[in-house]
Amino acid sequence: MNAKFWLCGLAFLGTAAANAQDLTITNGRIIDGTGRVIERGSVVIRGGKIASVASGAPSAAAGRRIDAGGRTVMPGLIDAHRHLVTGDPAKWLGDVAPKELQEFLDAGFTTVLSAIDPPPIIEARKAIEGGKLKGPRLFTGTFLPVAGATGPPPADDPARTDPSRGPRNGPAAPAIPREATIQQVQAAKRAGYDYLKVVLVSTPNGPELDTLKLIVAEGKKVGMPTIVHAVSVIDTLTAIEAHPDVLVHTPHIGRLDEDPYAIRKIVEAKIPMTSTLSVFGPHFGHENTPLFRDAKPFPWHTLSSAGQGPVNARLLVNNGLVSYGYGTDTQWPPKETLLDELRELDLVFSPTEIVTIITQGAAKSTLHPAEIGTLEPGKFGDVVIIDGDPLTDSHALLHVTTTIKGGEVVFQAKR
Ligand SMILES: [Zn+2]
Repeated sequence: MNAKFWLCGLAFLGTAAANAQDLTITNGRIIDGTGRVIERGSVVIRGGKIASVASGAPSAAAGRRIDAGGRTVMPGLIDAHRHLVTGDPAKWLGDVAPKELQEFLDAGFTTVLSAIDPPPIIEARKAIEGGKLKGPRLFTGTFLPVAGATGPPPADDPARTDPSRGPRNGPAAPAIPREATIQQVQAAKRAGYDYLKVVLVSTPNGPELDTLKLIVAEGKKVGMPTIVHAVSVIDTLTAIEAHPDVLVHTPHIGRLDEDPYAIRKIVEAKIPMTSTLSVFGPHFGHENTPLFRDAKPFPWHTLSSAGQGPVNARLLVNNGLVSYGYGTDTQWPPKETLLDELRELDLVFSPTEIVTIITQGAAKSTLHPAEIGTLEPGKFGDVVIIDGDPLTDSHALLHVTTTIKGGEVVFQAKR
């Protein structure tokens, strides 16, 4: 990737200044994300961070005032598992990113975790932070292999076609030399990524767990958490042996209702888990054609996941899972994706639980809960104003009227 090209590309991205702002929201029904609801309250943001959340009028207002008109005021939404760079990576930042990143803000998403994307994602994050591009806060992960290839890559999506659907026969995958893995961790750090992302599909007596353990250990040395894709119960149990920082999927292959031992092991690992339930169920397009994420034909041989993902999620939460967060694993527009994910979450979670899942839970899945996910003094001034009550109807989350990021209004619905 040519650095000069990216500098040139940025010149076309406009001049919007993303100065941290002061802002006061009054007359809101505040859902602060900690479980507290203030029927008529105010939020004051100073220097981009929340200064106060109070009942009634603020004692000391700051900056621009927004009258919420009695609407819901809650933390900005968070998607803790996306893939953002679409099409030709060299053209994405200049041609596609401005529109697609704004779509997140329009849908109320103030933070997005990119689980794997090529280097233009790092440039996008810098441009957002520098005020040259509008978009959500980005946290970024890059791919690290845990084994050599055993054959051609699967034609299907790995989130759906894990070999554990059938008996795990076949040969062990070849190991990657330790030195190569260590170098890959260091390269990921140099490139500016936040997380090491591992796709764990273990082979019989294969090297995957040992390599994952090495990645976790090397990541710790350079301050990079390891986030793991494990979509079957078998691989989730393998993954937790390496103590990674986040499980970026709900296991949806394998029945936890038949496996209390596995439930206990996963819960006791105390690792935040990200939902991505909508990857597994069919969605129906305008012509009633079954689709799965990113509008590909639905693979009916994986249909059991549509039910097993939500069932497994509910069982883990009922048994004390440390945190469950919203994530979608798509490249689909954020609002359509939200509708799809809500459809799955609604099967097994209450609206109140879903509000926690898409704010505080997702913040934990990014490993930044001290900065985002609730409306509390000191956190970023990331706030959405919503028509309706998401505590009784999760679909109210689709009706964002105002998005505020770091005290700056980044979306305002036309009235
Ligand atoms: Zn993914």
